[in-house]
Amino acid sequence: MQANIWFNVSALFILIILMALYYTKFRVPFRKYSIFLGLVWLALISTVSSICNNTLPGIVPNWILRISNMTYFVFHGLIPPTLLLYVYSLTDYNLRHWQRLIPWMIPSLFSTLLVLTSWYADTLFWLDEGGIYHRGPLMILLYLVTALNFIGIGYNLARDWKMIPPQESSSVLVFILLSTGAVVIQLFWPQMLVENFASAICMMISQLTVQNPERILDGSTGMLNKQGFSDLLTPRFERQRPFPVGFLMVDNYHELEKIYGFNRLESRMVILTDYLRQHTGCLFSRMDNRLFCFVPENFQNSSAWAALLRDLEEEAVTSRLKQEQIGIRIQLKIGVANCPQDADSFGSMMEMIDQAAKIPMDRNRDVLRLTGGDMMKLHRRKQIDTLVRNAVMENSLSLVYQPIYSVKEQCFVGAEALLRMNTEKLGFISPGEFIPIAEGNGAILQMTQFVVENVCRFIRLADLPPRVMRRVHINLSAIDCAQSELAAKILEGIHRNGVNPSLVSAEVTETAFSSMSDSMLTNLTDLSRAGIAIMLDDYGTGYSNLKRLYSMPLDVVKLDRSLIADIRSSNDARIVLENTILMMKRLNKIVLVEGVETKEQADYVISHGADYIQGYYYARPMDAAHLEKLFREQMEKKET
Ligand code: C2E
Ligand code: CA
Ligand code: CA
Repeated sequence: MQANIWFNVSALFILIILMALYYTKFRVPFRKYSIFLGLVWLALISTVSSICNNTLPGIVPNWILRISNMTYFVFHGLIPPTLLLYVYSLTDYNLRHWQRLIPWMIPSLFSTLLVLTSWYADTLFWLDEGGIYHRGPLMILLYLVTALNFIGIGYNLARDWKMIPPQESSSVLVFILLSTGAVVIQLFWPQMLVENFASAICMMISQLTVQNPERILDGSTGMLNKQGFSDLLTPRFERQRPFPVGFLMVDNYHELEKIYGFNRLESRMVILTDYLRQHTGCLFSRMDNRLFCFVPENFQNSSAWAALLRDLEEEAVTSRLKQEQIGIRIQLKIGVANCPQDADSFGSMMEMIDQAAKIPMDRNRDVLRLTGGDMMKLHRRKQIDTLVRNAVMENSLSLVYQPIYSVKEQCFVGAEALLRMNTEKLGFISPGEFIPIAEGNGAILQMTQFVVENVCRFIRLADLPPRVMRRVHINLSAIDCAQSELAAKILEGIHRNGVNPSLVSAEVTETAFSSMSDSMLTNLTDLSRAGIAIMLDDYGTGYSNLKRLYSMPLDVVKLDRSLIADIRSSNDARIVLENTILMMKRLNKIVLVEGVETKEQADYVISHGADYIQGYYYARPMDAAHLEKLFREQMEKKET
């Protein structure tokens, strides 16, 4: 009976192409791909030996044929357990818990031993004088082992079906179905050698679909893309052992894209990627058009990593770019995140890099290297960002009040409410640090509601006569003012607490004022009409639009403490302060001077016409109970 070897020849053809594709294009640093390559190798060897088994009888001595047949059984028999390993690698891609597979491997071990011992016995197969192969009585055991392996594969697929992408599960199922079909065909028509052909077809389907690395490789550079890098790093983050991740971003990518267009710029980016590639020993990923990340390929050998960082820092890359194409000036920002200290997951690492992208870069510099300190700041910023979002819910906010002194009445007449944040994780965080972050992520809106609510409650509970405590100031940020319903919300809180609106006033910074939007104008006008005094905060720090000073419903101008900081030493500072106060008075504004720390400063601003003073010299910020006590004592003193 002449066996049909053309199926095997076709299989060989397919497998060689797959192999070539793998080694030229599809090489990716993941276990899954290596195991798949192992499968292709096994199929290739068993195909070649099957061709030998069927073409060499009568040409070579029987012992060679025996070896060739045994080779076929060993390698063909290893395909199902390797497929099982492959399925396992789809969820545990680092094979950290490979021990779990041991029980499933025992039958294959047994069948391999059976094949090896068949040299001495004809139990599995035997060759007649012409070298032609015949099945032995124990052959059925090999089928049984394969069936057990397929059950193992089915079990693993079913157990982890939620975690395995459906295309990957289906490709494995197709493999099992086609292979089983081929086994059945070969069982009934032994001359039809279709088993290897079926394996090769399945592998081709897999390699062109789920094993195709396009999903994880960047098309134009062939580096890992963001998905690929995430696949690579996720297990490292899970292991929680320290490892560095470097990043390099083209800071002016968008500007360059506008000037040169996407295609021309991309062709220049190739120079950058070629440069990076020279540094073998590091694994690169192109996360998006402008961002590259890299890790040392192997942790023991850190010299490649150090060399890359040194080159980047010494601006070798930018000078190379300058040499190779005059006229395009790429500005690079580089840094290293020490994981998990700086970022403990892939997501938080990306957030951190996003933050790094926002750090302004000097237009005259080619390379900005973010230091460890910068990264720590970014990390802290990110932590505070999370804390700020949950601050109201987690009760980490509180209010203090800084009394305001009236020069004319020579006593305290009001207070400014100031936010404080005390967290379990980072302890006390100053408003200078958390307010800008809260403005950035929108949490400031909730915070302002918190302030309004607490200030109103304080006014209601303290129930001090209005002649004693005239006003409590709240701070409004530009983000608050841009909300169309801000005034309505504040007034609702005030009315709900039964507080007279004239007991509350709103401070808006000069900078917020300079970006006056329609909503801000409406809000401030509505608040002012309801009796809430509007104050211009931090005057002298932002960009003033002097016209606003008289065109807006502004009652009080608060001069920033920077205006008085140097009055002792600088004549110019005194000229600025004196004339600012003079101008405000002539515009009929009430002048409040902030940040007065010494008697000398107090005397000076009083002699130049300040109406109110706020500063450590008179009182520091204090909690509500102390503020109430202060006012009561002051009231009692006056009455006696
Ligand atoms: P600000 O509105 O200018 O508040 C005055 C700041 O100056 C307060 O700092 C206060 O403690 C400080 N200060 C008062 N007197 C003196 C002094 O004599 N010397 C010095 N060196 N400092 C003095 P604080 O409480 O750290 O607040 C900082 C900034 O955070 C505030 O500046 C304000 O812009 C913002 N902020 C605080 N609470 C809130 C709030 O509820 N909402 C908004 N949007 N911003 C707030
Ligand atoms: Ca203020
Ligand atoms: Ca201020």
